[in-house]
Amino acid sequence: MGNVIAVDSISKLVTDARKEIQGARSSAELDQLETKILGKRSLLAMAHRELGELDLEQRKEHGRQLHEARQAIEKIIEDKRADVSKREREQRLIAERVDLSEVITDEVRSTIGRGKLHVVTQTCDTLVDVFVGMGFVVEEGPEAETDWYNFEALNMPPAHPARSMWDTFYLELGEPESVVLRTHTSPVQIRLMEEAARKSSLPIHAVMPGRCYRTETPDARHLAVFHQIEGLVVDEAITFGDLAGTIETFTRAYFGDGIHSRLRPSYFPFTEPSAEFEITCTICRGDGCRTCSGTGWIELGGCGLVDPAVFDAVGIDSEEWSGFAFGFGIDRCAQMHYQIADMRSLTENDLRFMRRF
Ligand SMILES: [Zn+2]
Repeated sequence: MGNVIAVDSISKLVTDARKEIQGARSSAELDQLETKILGKRSLLAMAHRELGELDLEQRKEHGRQLHEARQAIEKIIEDKRADVSKREREQRLIAERVDLSEVITDEVRSTIGRGKLHVVTQTCDTLVDVFVGMGFVVEEGPEAETDWYNFEALNMPPAHPARSMWDTFYLELGEPESVVLRTHTSPVQIRLMEEAARKSSLPIHAVMPGRCYRTETPDARHLAVFHQIEGLVVDEAITFGDLAGTIETFTRAYFGDGIHSRLRPSYFPFTEPSAEFEITCTICRGDGCRTCSGTGWIELGGCGLVDPAVFDAVGIDSEEWSGFAFGFGIDRCAQMHYQIADMRSLTENDLRFMRRF
């Protein structure tokens, strides 16, 4: 009967194959076993080929058993393959895992071109640090604001001529009220004061950095999307001297020795009295140059004592509380700190420019 596997050996064949297959540790090893056990030169294939030597009855019975054995082994391989691939996938994930605690050497860093924060973000972080050091907390508010927060509560009722000081992007016009992209960070002041009045949690000492929008044509000193930082103090017996002192302390802390601030009378609807604040020109350090038009001073922002009409709008008693507010452009600050000739460079994403900071 040649080399044909005896009928009683077929179950042993399956048992042996199972043992061998279970021991496989990789897909590659499993592929090799599959060829060895089921391939053309396997014992099983040979037995199948020699079926012809048997008489009809034996051939049918033996053939059926060989077929069942093959099916059983195929199933064992299939199950094992699923198991092995799952384990291999897990091992690959572990191998490819990024180790966040890994220390990157300067040598490696120089080859991978590591990213960094945008100069405006860096400037914002530094400004916030200075104010936090002076005892301010940081607050934020939405960039899409209702007309009431952006204008009306800031003492600019509809049709107030001062509204034309801000070229406004309107998201929704009219009823029940317009929605705008905030033209300044001042609406955050209103939100803070409302909340403090509601919770009786005065005083307030806060700075509010954020993105603002105006329909301006960008030029060397203006952007349509820009960043402001605004400060608000509401406390008892606040005077203009407190405001001037805060601005001078900030100016020296941020720009360094030799740079000072001064206030010049101005007008804003939400402060009374109002002032523009200027700092020593950082280019000529006060001697006079083209950037400062020979004056030695550069305008940085606006400020003033909170107008009692604003306190009325948010429900704070202006007999008991007083306050000051100031605001200035973060982009402008970066421009002066790093002597950037054209502010539009900040948004052009030219890597040669970005890498300077
Ligand atoms: Zn100058």
